[in-house]
Amino acid sequence: MKPITAFGPDFPFAFDEWLAHPAGLGEIPEARLGEEIGIVGAGMAGMVVAYELMKLGLKPVMYEAGRIGGRLRSQRFAGADEEIVAELGGMRFPESSTAFWHYVNLLGLESRPFPNPLTEAAGSTVVDLESRKHYARTIDDLPSIFQEVSDAWDTALKTSVPFDALQQAIAAKDAKRVRELWTPMIEQWDERTFYDFVTSSKSFSELTFRHREIFGQVGFGTGGWDSDFPNSMVEILRVNATACDDNQHFIYGGAERVPADLWRHSPENMKHWPPGTSLQDLHQGAPNPAAKHIVRDERGRLEITDQWGDCKSFDAVVTTTQSWLLTTSIDVSEELFSQKMWMALDRTRYMQSSKTFVMVRRPFWKDIDPATGQHRMSMTLTDRLTRGTYLFDLGDDKPGVICLTYTWMSDAMKMLPLDVEKRVDLSLAALKKIYPELNLEAEIIGEPITVSWEDDPNFLGAFKGALPGHYRYNQRMYSHFMQGLMPPAERGIFIAGDDVSWTPGWVEGAVQTALNAVWGVMTHLGGHTPEQNPGPGDVYGEFGPVKLKN
Ligand SMILES: Cc1cc2nc3c(=O)[nH]c(=O)nc-3n(C[C@H](O)[C@H](O)[C@H](O)COP(=O)(O)OP(=O)(O)OC[C@H]3O[C@@H](n4cnc5c(N)ncnc54)[C@H](O)[C@@H]3O)c2cc1C
Repeated sequence: MKPITAFGPDFPFAFDEWLAHPAGLGEIPEARLGEEIGIVGAGMAGMVVAYELMKLGLKPVMYEAGRIGGRLRSQRFAGADEEIVAELGGMRFPESSTAFWHYVNLLGLESRPFPNPLTEAAGSTVVDLESRKHYARTIDDLPSIFQEVSDAWDTALKTSVPFDALQQAIAAKDAKRVRELWTPMIEQWDERTFYDFVTSSKSFSELTFRHREIFGQVGFGTGGWDSDFPNSMVEILRVNATACDDNQHFIYGGAERVPADLWRHSPENMKHWPPGTSLQDLHQGAPNPAAKHIVRDERGRLEITDQWGDCKSFDAVVTTTQSWLLTTSIDVSEELFSQKMWMALDRTRYMQSSKTFVMVRRPFWKDIDPATGQHRMSMTLTDRLTRGTYLFDLGDDKPGVICLTYTWMSDAMKMLPLDVEKRVDLSLAALKKIYPELNLEAEIIGEPITVSWEDDPNFLGAFKGALPGHYRYNQRMYSHFMQGLMPPAERGIFIAGDDVSWTPGWVEGAVQTALNAVWGVMTHLGGHTPEQNPGPGDVYGEFGPVKLKN
């Protein structure tokens, strides 16, 4: 079988091949070259839209309320080298995210295997549940109940839905077959939860509640799954079918380098602009400030007013912020979207997430304790407050970084009102119970770093987590770039980013929706794709996401 890529399943289109094709993405009419396009948000989606539109010869005008990179935020520890960072947002990138990797490779960034539980990159893993600690290098070192849980999950996937056939069709990039297999799965599972899938599967129902509890607490692959139990099962099926949880890497020096370097990069084969031009050059060094109002002016153009009152108007605007911000932080004229779209935008539901990091003198955890023959500390999964503790080894001669706690949903809410010192204290106290002999405090240097995404007005949450019944909302939002049949009053404004994606919480989805928006803007301005390299909108009629009955 060929490697699995994020080819659908909702919209089976090879974004990676579209990007890599020597004919390029398309052409803009000569008379429109150099025209300004408004782009709200300089995260990964906004940056991809801007970069590709610049390459086509347009002039992106970016607005950003915070810092470039958005939810790819790598915060440097004060005083340390620039590669010693806390990855506050996206941090592990599966090999199947091929549109995202297109940009990582273009920029020549270095990546390393992510130290996930039970992987070689982690070295060793400690699973601590109900105060019983298990040290393991592979799953075979754990008590047999863990293998039973892992097998039950694999069996549930393979027997409850045609999972293997779907993965084979995805790997073969067989769009027709993907659609054939995926449509009944949506119909069956959109309105049912992940927990329902687990409990109603034969493989889990034959086992005990303890098995389901272990699955929720430690999961397999990247960590516990229970925070996602209320989510729509189709979302979980997508993650598994497109191998998002497998073969993950981190970007050495921080994921933020991807959008930040794209900002400074000058593409080859660029139309209209002199060679060497970058987005940074087109913006005189910095993006425009936060967008505050978006309205249609009397000439029918879309007018953006920024936080300091400056107005600019455009024929096309792309917004990439979380969709709730279109009603909370930006005053967007109601007529720009249909009421059905507003319903979808406002129904988006966010996952909460918090992380707390410390820097330590060196990757001391690799030392072997002579008394036990085990590593002094390991990647740790626990039912205690910290839930997941990840260890980043950046070289023996460099400080190490520990993500003391990475939590979602109710576990993240426990942290929300607490300051960074309290979060560190609580995490150290929990870890002390697992590693009583370890003096972790003595290893820490510098100031800790923490984040709660739901506490930030520019985000309001970490990422979308669709609830049962949300497929129709997602279908509306994702398909919005196909504007040919829309009333003129709603055309010209495009939405992209994590909220619009089918795989929220995975940057690949943000990149793919950005590429849809590029196609949308190009077409809106009268441009087109090359005949030999059709774009997403060209095949949408045949392979676009299925529309369920209302
Ligand atoms: C905790 C966490 C863990 C994650 N883990 C992973 C992972 O391991 N792997 C993975 O692939 N993905 C992961 N993701 C998801 C990934 O980070 C996102 O999919 C991606 O970064 C989203 O990019 P975006 O451009 O769609 O949105 P954003 O990055 O949110 O960009 C939108 C931008 O809009 C800006 N903005 C807001 N309001 C305004 C305004 N009024 N005017 C102008 N600008 C504005 C924001 O400041 C922001 O920079 C994670 C995300 C989080 C939060």
